[in-house]
Amino acid sequence: MLLTPRHRSRPRISRHRKAALLACAVSVCLVAAAAPPEPLGVGDRLYPYLGNPGYDVASYDISLTYAGTNDKPLQAVTTIDARTTADLDRVNLDFAHGTVRSVEVDGRPARFTSAGEDLVVTPRTPLTEGSRTRITVRHTSDPAPAKDQDGGWVRTVDGLAMANQADAAHLVFPGNDHPSDKAMFTFRITAPDGCTAVANGLPTGAYRVGRTTTWTYRTLHPMATELAQVSIGRSAVVHRAGPHGLPLRDVVPAADHKALEPWLARTPDQIAWMESKVGRYPFETYGVLMAQAATGFELETQTLSLFEKDLFTKPAYPEWYIESVMVHELSHQWFGDSVTPRTWSDVWLNEGHATWYEELYAEETAHRPMKDRMKAAYGAADRWRESGGPPARPKPPAPGQKIGIFRPSVYDGAALALYALRQEIGRPAFERLERLWVQEHRDATATTADFVRLASAVAGRDLRGFLDAWLYGEKTPPMPGHPDWRPTAKTGPAEPRARR
Ligand SMILES: [Zn+2]
Repeated sequence: MLLTPRHRSRPRISRHRKAALLACAVSVCLVAAAAPPEPLGVGDRLYPYLGNPGYDVASYDISLTYAGTNDKPLQAVTTIDARTTADLDRVNLDFAHGTVRSVEVDGRPARFTSAGEDLVVTPRTPLTEGSRTRITVRHTSDPAPAKDQDGGWVRTVDGLAMANQADAAHLVFPGNDHPSDKAMFTFRITAPDGCTAVANGLPTGAYRVGRTTTWTYRTLHPMATELAQVSIGRSAVVHRAGPHGLPLRDVVPAADHKALEPWLARTPDQIAWMESKVGRYPFETYGVLMAQAATGFELETQTLSLFEKDLFTKPAYPEWYIESVMVHELSHQWFGDSVTPRTWSDVWLNEGHATWYEELYAEETAHRPMKDRMKAAYGAADRWRESGGPPARPKPPAPGQKIGIFRPSVYDGAALALYALRQEIGRPAFERLERLWVQEHRDATATTADFVRLASAVAGRDLRGFLDAWLYGEKTPPMPGHPDWRPTAKTGPAEPRARR
């Protein structure tokens, strides 16, 4: 679903342009009369220029040609099939880090220019509301870091991976880079001998020409641009069966396959555990991508979660913690990927739930009581609200700050709000709510208000007052059933918690 446009799209032929048309009836006058191209957005409170009004993308077909070295731009062709939701004399795409060679709209060359982080395309003839259109962009996709921007391609020791959350898919390919516009994806990746390419979804073929292979992958479910994943490297692809025969495939550095296998072997049981909590796994496949890169985070890219290899090979973390981080990313496949936040202010629906299942798994499999962790979180929660905003109204990302909107308030602060809700409505109602949530919004987008509505329906009473205080309040409300829990004074340096 699309958001209300921040700027209204212009009518197909404005009064101004009509006058110009009558006056001289040559195209050069039309060019002169048009307002200058400007960056547009869908009105996201935290990222005002992400996404674009006036169309809804149905599918992306992204071809990437990798030269065998990760410091050179990839040659790329992105084809976007969309349906217009307004009359458009221009189409804005988000794209900010590559060279555009040509653009075609419905098979005809179109003019293009950039404005801010948008690629502004002017079709030969304006597009009318409710029509289907195909936009083909020939461009490069640059793995060198963008100036002052984080994310997009991640350069690994042996190739590339992708980390687009929240606002970096448009550093890799042109599109409608906002989670409110989910679409189907096809990836065609051409790489030289010795490299293996894997992307979201299932493989649909690989063919070899000379010394290169082109690998094709297709998603069977809609996906947000932020969840795209393409891995290119000297990788082993390890196959096994998950619950109900679900095909699993992990992507690991070929040389480390044996050492990493004990971790990979845990995924089927983790999926079975998640299914026992919230119901069937929502996608066509799953797997972990262990990349040789220092990202400082793990990421729930759809059907193929990205992890730093070092998480599994360096003795920095206890085993139970590593497994709970694996479950964190796995649970995002339900919470964040299948049910996608409609705006970035709803990101607590991703991170609060993923933190919840991370902690529940640690409680049930490693005897780490959730109550103790919640009590500690309660102690810090007011400070988190002050520095990051309340869970459902996070503060905008500070320029140049890598952590962006991913602060403790939307992780442990939001999990604490879920704990309060369970305390308030009881365990059976809470568990029913969780199952219904991922069922009702499967393959779609949802908002905080949708969650509050469903919680009220399941509990059989209006929970707006209760949840608004927990999700939007300046201060942390009292914890039901634990009147003795209090905010605590800050001790020591702030815990540097990796984004995940
Ligand atoms: Zn997460």
